[in-house]
Amino acid sequence: MMHLLEKIDRREVVQDEWIPTTCSMCLHHCGILVHVVNGVAIKVEGDPDNPDNAGHNCARAPAVLMRQYDPFRVKRPMIRTNPEKGIGVDPKWREISWDEAWEIIVPKLKKILEEDPRKLLFAATDFRRPWIWAWGGAVFGTPNGFYSDLGTTCGGGYHPVNGILFGSFATQPDWKYVKYLVSVGGGDGFESHLHLTCNIRRASDARMRGLKVVVVDPRMSNAAVKADEWIPIRPGTSLAFALGMINSMLWEIRGYDEWFLKNRTNAPYLIGPDGYYVRDKETKKPLVWDPVDNRAKPFNDKTVKDFALEGVYKVDGVEARPAFQVIKDSLKTYTPEWASQITTVPAETIRRIAREFVANAHIGETIEINGKKYPYRPVCFQWYRGAHAHEHSWLANLAFKYVNMLVGAVDTPGGQINVPLGWDPHIDAWAEKRYGWKGPAYNFVVPNEDGIVTPWIYELRPPVPMEYPPKHLDLLEYFPVGLEAGHLYTDAVLNPDYFGIDYRPEAALFIHANPVWNIPASLRTIEALKKLDLVISVDLISTSETTMMADIVLPDTSPLESWALLHCEAPFVTGYTLRRPVVKPPPEAMDATDFLTELSARLGILHKWNGFLNWRYIEPFGKPQYYLEPNKKYTVPEFLDRWMKAQYGEEMGLDWFIKNKNNIREMSPEELYWPYGDVRVQLYVETVKKFGDELESFFKRIGYPKPWMKGWTRDYLPYPAWRDLRIHNPDDKSYDLYMIYYKLPHMTFADQATVPWTSDIVQSKPDLVSALINSETAARKGLRTGDEVVIESKAGSVRAVVYVTEAVHPDVVALSNAGRWVNHPWAINYAPSSSILVESGLDLTDKVSGCPETAARVRIRKVE
Ligand code: SF4
Repeated sequence: MMHLLEKIDRREVVQDEWIPTTCSMCLHHCGILVHVVNGVAIKVEGDPDNPDNAGHNCARAPAVLMRQYDPFRVKRPMIRTNPEKGIGVDPKWREISWDEAWEIIVPKLKKILEEDPRKLLFAATDFRRPWIWAWGGAVFGTPNGFYSDLGTTCGGGYHPVNGILFGSFATQPDWKYVKYLVSVGGGDGFESHLHLTCNIRRASDARMRGLKVVVVDPRMSNAAVKADEWIPIRPGTSLAFALGMINSMLWEIRGYDEWFLKNRTNAPYLIGPDGYYVRDKETKKPLVWDPVDNRAKPFNDKTVKDFALEGVYKVDGVEARPAFQVIKDSLKTYTPEWASQITTVPAETIRRIAREFVANAHIGETIEINGKKYPYRPVCFQWYRGAHAHEHSWLANLAFKYVNMLVGAVDTPGGQINVPLGWDPHIDAWAEKRYGWKGPAYNFVVPNEDGIVTPWIYELRPPVPMEYPPKHLDLLEYFPVGLEAGHLYTDAVLNPDYFGIDYRPEAALFIHANPVWNIPASLRTIEALKKLDLVISVDLISTSETTMMADIVLPDTSPLESWALLHCEAPFVTGYTLRRPVVKPPPEAMDATDFLTELSARLGILHKWNGFLNWRYIEPFGKPQYYLEPNKKYTVPEFLDRWMKAQYGEEMGLDWFIKNKNNIREMSPEELYWPYGDVRVQLYVETVKKFGDELESFFKRIGYPKPWMKGWTRDYLPYPAWRDLRIHNPDDKSYDLYMIYYKLPHMTFADQATVPWTSDIVQSKPDLVSALINSETAARKGLRTGDEVVIESKAGSVRAVVYVTEAVHPDVVALSNAGRWVNHPWAINYAPSSSILVESGLDLTDKVSGCPETAARVRIRKVE
């Protein structure tokens, strides 16, 4: 702290104030107050006026000061003078002027723009300014716009399952009412995922109220430490655990919410032998079986007296079963005993958790809130990356979703709440303008002609037609319901023929992105970057793993120096919060938004950039007076002012937010609990089957030009099923352990490892920077705490120090996400990087969602 105080000339205090702004040290947006003295930020506290974080903040918020005054802060453009690139290789940066930087960047990007925009790789999924994400695709025109982040270290198959079934993006337990939480491979409310600072408070309150927590995880996570029960499980087998639970619920306990299944899902829709809905010949509506009248009727026929969920019926000479019966039959063999063999969790434990889940679901009961009755289902099966980021991610995510849906614990008090991506009036305006849907649209939840929520399958991108050769390096042409598969860029750059790619990528533009660190197979990512003619990185610090591979580094502004309006994290609150500069940036730093504006102008595409901002942010509100002019350069505050005025009216521009800080409010029960009206969701996901069949026909039509196309659509199933993962059956049995990595809350974003106030937390706990190995396994291998070992996978090897513990599954070596190799004086004593060990490639990618496998098979040997 001393070095901050030394910056202040105490003889003349001309400024001493607390300035409200928004923290941007992670993807959430807590209100903070920054103490600024004579232009130097010296202290950060949570802002009690923010209705979301209510004065709280996590350890990362004050650590922004270390980021702000980091000695490796990029203050001027820099060019690499050492052509050699690699781990530990000094780039030998030389400072240059902006003019020199433009002279290098613009001709290269102009050539690519004119020849073939696909040759630019772009990554800018910076949560500090989401409007820049789409620059690569929507403005420059490259299909390769997500070389990092989304889907790879993030939601993978989790976002598509939420989008397809519920038109949403993420999920949270309803902390206010939940009584029984099964947390699988995630840390919601305890250490990771959605809005930690706020959800920790909500989870603590729930625990005080008596919430029971069961954690299923190969590692005794922070959540497990605080839980009532920790169930260690073999990596990559949570799907089998969920299938065992579902089997018990369906076949043993018969514990499911019939009303919900009959009235809120397509469980009663009749399915024919071809796997599709059986439809009424005249109306083409899906049919259901009315067991009272003993005949099939369209699902929305007013005379339906009851919906059959089970049985086999003859309809127009065709044998048909309700979707629920099809699902039940298909899951019959996944008994708890079967699941036990795969997961190593005793069958009786799986059965007991299923029983407890059903018992706590209060099926049939209601709760009155503000005078209105809702189904009361206070149970939640919540999961995240550890459970779902595997080779068969779609099937796993669907099974997890089923556990909640079977008991009706979705979007109801106490259950799992779906979190739309930006649940705000903007979405309503957007939906009406684009699709003619009158609000409230609650994102894209509207019934289609089959009475089902229209699947929102593209989420962050437009639909991509199936075609060959593919344009996208991540083969999005063949992930019709996936989010993206940015980790595949690396393999496509290194091996374009294998992918069928008929062009050569030439440049990359990274904005505060670090694919070398956060996607699998770091060493291959470095090799791919070496193949490019020009790698540009806009960054705050020069030492990140990816920026160290750049040819040119450009100085960005910090969170304390820049403007933004950021949507707070749904679902419990809604509204925008203002981030504003509290200190001056270095004179030559340029906010990444301004950089893209200037770059667009120099490339002759400023009209496209402004056109995109209009299209996405301003136009939906139908007020042309706020549109950006095509060829005028706007500053960030000018853009924000127009965006907010378009959305809320002339009186609520930037000045309003400067005065009021935010317009965040709590969501009402009507907005939170089944706000969709009379609409059903897919339990039997015909949508995915349909896309799989279309894709298979496409591959057949083009004659399967690539061998990997055969078998690609095997997982496009309408219900979950078990598949062995490749990591479960390694060719070489000497790789006898599983490497898993776990997220530490203070290390959520890569650059936090070089912030002393957060890295101190890690470095003071030897287990967090070591390789965790179970005591039985360690004894078998003759290892003790403190031993130095080499951990090897087929992708690479790392050195590590062993920490022997009971707190991991015996099959596991666990590494934290604090693993770095940056050459930074504050990044000492770090854990080895898990990304070096994770293998990459098509074989290890979920063919439905695009999610990569994130665990690896490894072997371990002691360094003598
Ligand atoms: S949770 Fe994120 S936004 Fe909130 S204080 Fe921590 S780092 Fe800042």
